[in-house]
Amino acid sequence: MIKQPSLTEKINLKGLTRTELESFVVEWGEPKYRAQQVMSWLYHKRVTGVEAMTNLSKGFRSKLAAEAYISDARVIARTISDDNLAIKYLFELTDGVQVESVLMCERDRVTVCVSSQVGCAMGCDFCATGKMGFFRNLTAAEILDQLTAIERELDGKKAVTNVVFMGMGEPLANYDELLKAIRLMASPDGLRLSEKRMTVSTVGLVPRIRQFTREGLKCNLALSLNATTDEVRTRLMPINTRYPIDEALDAAGEWARMAKRKVTLEYVLIRNVNDSIADAKRLRKLMSGLPCKLNLIPFNEIEDSEFRRPELDRIERFRQIVADGHYVAPIRFSRGTDIAAACGQLRTIYGTQGIVISKAS
Ligand code: SAH
Ligand code: SF4
Repeated sequence: MIKQPSLTEKINLKGLTRTELESFVVEWGEPKYRAQQVMSWLYHKRVTGVEAMTNLSKGFRSKLAAEAYISDARVIARTISDDNLAIKYLFELTDGVQVESVLMCERDRVTVCVSSQVGCAMGCDFCATGKMGFFRNLTAAEILDQLTAIERELDGKKAVTNVVFMGMGEPLANYDELLKAIRLMASPDGLRLSEKRMTVSTVGLVPRIRQFTREGLKCNLALSLNATTDEVRTRLMPINTRYPIDEALDAAGEWARMAKRKVTLEYVLIRNVNDSIADAKRLRKLMSGLPCKLNLIPFNEIEDSEFRRPELDRIERFRQIVADGHYVAPIRFSRGTDIAAACGQLRTIYGTQGIVISKAS
């Protein structure tokens, strides 16, 4: 009897570049152009099995079924925010690990916040994912799986327009798969999303930011600054001992000048840690001369943490001081505060339990 290859020995058709897929197709004895047909089934018609690829010969389809598979993310929990505008998904991947993504709908804009890793090695003290530790990188296919699974949930009523890499993990620490995912998302053979509508958020891995700059992509870049002194930033974000504030801002500035766009600075406001008037003034100074905009994010409280969200008037006072002369985005309480939307929190809550479909109370 012929041994059936196990799933892990099979080739995942998703996540392959056109060139990679072409060489497999040729190896399987088919003309090169079949690769484009397969990609169209995968990314345009979004089929989940090779048997649906009806313009391929039966013989080729059974070869594909024997040697290849199409990965998918399985929804194991959905939590809907009170305003019905954000849904947080917990997905299970092929090897049983879990990642989360958030869907946010606002007028014409449908944004998905995707995870790039399972857990995170950066260990930021205020972040639920950081507290979880690092499990593994996601493949480009698994990054795309989050988008295609969410679009399936939308049932053709809406299409994803924007992607932000602000879910679990540090995207620039999973550089090659991140780049592959971005290219497949943007490619006419792939998901046909605009690079300009993608944002990569980083903890500030300076050499990777510089490398990213040289790629010449049209994606946006966001730097999680979160403090105005190295002392406080190191306390919140251990990576600051390797890449302190001035180096991270220098790399962000180089990106902004090369890309001819503004870099977004993210600043999570934590009560009595980084929300003083002196912090606001220092932040204003750090921003001067840098082509940037600022996203102030009131801290989402997480379990096992003494950090608290500042009171509303303190948040507003901070915003006003920084805003003087700078562009500061209106403060957006991250959608779904009521659904524990901060990075990594859903997985922590649901663990490995079964299906939970709930509307937050
Ligand atoms: N690793 C990347 C992207 C994922 S984190 C990064 O750090 O930028 C995405 C954003 O969520 C970061 O700006 C981070 O500072 C913020 N964040 C993490 N935990 C948070 C929390 N509990 N409340 C509010 N924002 C949080
Ligand atoms: Fe990782 Fe970003 Fe969380 Fe820091 S904030 S631990 S880099 S996911």
